Amino acid sequence: MDMPQAITDKRQRPLRDLRLSVTDRCNFRCVYCMPKEVYGAKFHFLPRHDLLSFDELERVVRLFAPLGVEKIRLTGGEPLLRQNVEQLVRQLAAVPGISDIAMTTNGYFLSRDKAKALKDAGLHRITVSLDALDDATFGSINDVGAPVERVLSAIRSASAAGLTPVKINMVVKRGVNDKAVIAMARHFRFTGHILRFIEYMDVGNTNGWRLDDVVPASEILRQIQTHWDVEPIASHHTGEVARRFRYRDGGGEFGIISSVSQPFCQSCGRIRLSPEGRLYTCLFGSEGYDLRALIRDGNLSDPAVSEALSALWGRRTDQYSLERTSQTSPHSKVEMSHIGG
Ligand code: SF4
Repeated sequence: MDMPQAITDKRQRPLRDLRLSVTDRCNFRCVYCMPKEVYGAKFHFLPRHDLLSFDELERVVRLFAPLGVEKIRLTGGEPLLRQNVEQLVRQLAAVPGISDIAMTTNGYFLSRDKAKALKDAGLHRITVSLDALDDATFGSINDVGAPVERVLSAIRSASAAGLTPVKINMVVKRGVNDKAVIAMARHFRFTGHILRFIEYMDVGNTNGWRLDDVVPASEILRQIQTHWDVEPIASHHTGEVARRFRYRDGGGEFGIISSVSQPFCQSCGRIRLSPEGRLYTCLFGSEGYDLRALIRDGNLSDPAVSEALSALWGRRTDQYSLERTSQTSPHSKVEMSHIGG
């Protein structure tokens, strides 16, 4: 099938990447994403009937593929909390034009069987979050005392299932786990897995973000270069979020995602869908566009919905990270735990 000409936004950025948050729930309370003080026992998560069904999500993907979407990433909250999510993977893998289906997970529920079921259903890649290698630091970040070994075991399960190379995301926060950068790098060298260091971001409104807590990419790279000789390598495709590097001694590859110090909005072709069907054209967006109203309540035909999607992307101008300054006025942003990273 010839790839459709991707629609472009007001900054001529082609639409390529659709991120589906399939649940707003998570079993972790990571302090930079879903702090316990806000997401406590009394927090009202979305009722099941508010969530888009697998058939509705499949329809959305069928409508986006002809507009240029090739890559789907399943996120959350924690996507493995959505029951039978492999059935959704199976349905999306059958959509013409979708060449890549990935998932971002905290790994807690990623057993060998689950990893195999996801792979068999058509999942291509998996990214597992791990912010430190010692239980004390990791436990203080996930704030539920989840042990490191549980996540390392998930990475082994993903690898055994052939979801390789496994990517590992580490959010680096000054004074919390910045001293763990070298230990993490050392652990994943020569494993074939790709560790990505992520600058701590001012996502949402609840993580108490301060610029002082950000460890910029240049500092992370300098840390690594004091131990190993590395060189930059070309990105796989336009719009790739991570800057790629490899160890000259053959130790493999790592990446740095620098939304704060070296924004990458110029080539951002990502759109995000929340569990209840609101579209966000930027991770730092506010309102969101109510797609569920069109596909569930409005009974609109596919061409009519497709037109609305094209219009939404066509008027997009988002470039929050490029515009972010210390003067940036805080506006109410959607929570990352709601639309995924
Ligand atoms: S800040 Fe918004 S526009 Fe910029 S890269 Fe992130 S999602 Fe894309």
